[in-house]
Amino acid sequence: MERDDDPPENSPAGEDDKQLPEAFEAAEGTYPPDSGVPTITCSRCDREWELSYELDELQVGNRALEQFAMDHNHHTGHYPDGVTPWTAACRQCPAGESFLAERPARRFAKTHARHTTHTVDLQQPESDETETIQPPSE
Ligand SMILES: [Zn+2]
Ligand SMILES: [Zn+2]
Repeated sequence: MERDDDPPENSPAGEDDKQLPEAFEAAEGTYPPDSGVPTITCSRCDREWELSYELDELQVGNRALEQFAMDHNHHTGHYPDGVTPWTAACRQCPAGESFLAERPARRFAKTHARHTTHTVDLQQPESDETETIQPPSE
């Protein structure tokens, strides 16, 4: 069984890994420049963000970028620079959703087709290719 919600396993083990509340407070808003906090830009918003909130508050680790992109789309209706989602869109009803990975996008398309007998278009990121998911025939 594959799971999506496993915690990231790339943290080094050891005493240094313990994140004390004091460290959080000290780091708040003033990351040292060598902290390696990733940044992300959005040309539509004309802004740049550090992903420190995602890393510290949400504890999403190496999925910080993905979390930011999903949140950004949720609140603004578009994705930040460099993030291109998979899009599943039903041809027969308003159902549709964007995903940052193929597996959930494909799953959405297939289950929608299966339950509604609608035909769903699955658009790959950075490609003009659209895959058509047909409902299973009897
Ligand atoms: Zn934006
Ligand atoms: Zn539909």
